[in-house]
Amino acid sequence: MKTVLDVRNLTTRFAGPSGALVAVNDVSFSLGEREILGLVGESGSGKSVTLRSLIRLLPSMAGQSGEVIWQGRDILNMSPKDLKAVRGGQISMIFQEPTTALNPVLPIGLQIDENLRAHTKLTHRERLIRARELMDLVGIPEAARRLSEYPHQFSGGMKQRAMIAIALASNPRLLLADEPTTALDVTIQDQILKLILDLRDELAMSVIFVTHDLGVVAATCDRMAVMYAGRIVETGTVADVFAQPMHAYTRGLLGSVPRVGTERSPLMSIEGTPPSLSAIPQGCAFHPRCDFATEICRATQPDTKMLAAEHQVACHNSLAVVKTGSPVR
Ligand code: ADP
Ligand code: MG
Repeated sequence: MKTVLDVRNLTTRFAGPSGALVAVNDVSFSLGEREILGLVGESGSGKSVTLRSLIRLLPSMAGQSGEVIWQGRDILNMSPKDLKAVRGGQISMIFQEPTTALNPVLPIGLQIDENLRAHTKLTHRERLIRARELMDLVGIPEAARRLSEYPHQFSGGMKQRAMIAIALASNPRLLLADEPTTALDVTIQDQILKLILDLRDELAMSVIFVTHDLGVVAATCDRMAVMYAGRIVETGTVADVFAQPMHAYTRGLLGSVPRVGTERSPLMSIEGTPPSLSAIPQGCAFHPRCDFATEICRATQPDTKMLAAEHQVACHNSLAVVKTGSPVR
């Protein structure tokens, strides 16, 4: 598979009252063409900051280091002009809360047209046709009429679709989706997920999908990366990680997935809570909550090891975790 995005040692710091807070810590991963990567972890683990860091959509006081290689060039070193072409153009982002991403005083059609004007060479007439096509593509009925409507005239699910239509107007090669269905009810959530899968096939896009719902990962993603306290602690194909989690945190997340046939609900947390950025534990950040923790975990940050083809983990006691087996079958 051709690699489209290669992230190396990505680190993002925010200035805190008593020193820098590291929200994304030495994160590395790559993404193939047409691949859907799920980024999972409890709230506050750094998923949104990671997505925003990829396209430098951060407050000015944030500091970044590492490399984000997109089509052979490092986004972190790009000029503002080149960055503008990539962000919202080749790489589009959709957010959890469509109301914050949509402009309330502009009709949806104009918001699509703005992106078409900025990122394509289409004529006025061609843009009108394309806007209708995009509305059809994301499943908004009566496109011609609805293009002139304002965001408040759309339901939650339709707003989410409109935001996706705007994001797709630039023909992105990569879609960054930050919990795009969390606020929606289950039926609409399933429709939007199916839409993203269809679009991946139709437009040959790659997708990074942030979610805290492992059911969504199982239904949607090819590979997954598990984040804890700003680090990626495990990556692998969805099938491999579900069948054989190698990190105690991943195992805990899988254990809290609702069983098939029960109501889908957010993850119940593993005992304890994730650390705040100002008090990340020494050694492995997960050790205070970990049933497998030993002396070394309290002292030393584990390196990331490749334990099986394409399956990486940063855990001192991964063999003990593997021996215990997966909580899901
Ligand atoms: P997630 O998306 O996994 O729930 P986030 O990526 O939003 O988590 O946040 C990771 C950490 O970074 C959190 O502790 C959050 O409080 C902190 N954070 C996010 N944005 C900022 C900011 N602008 N300034 C300071 N800290 C921030
Ligand atoms: Mg988030």
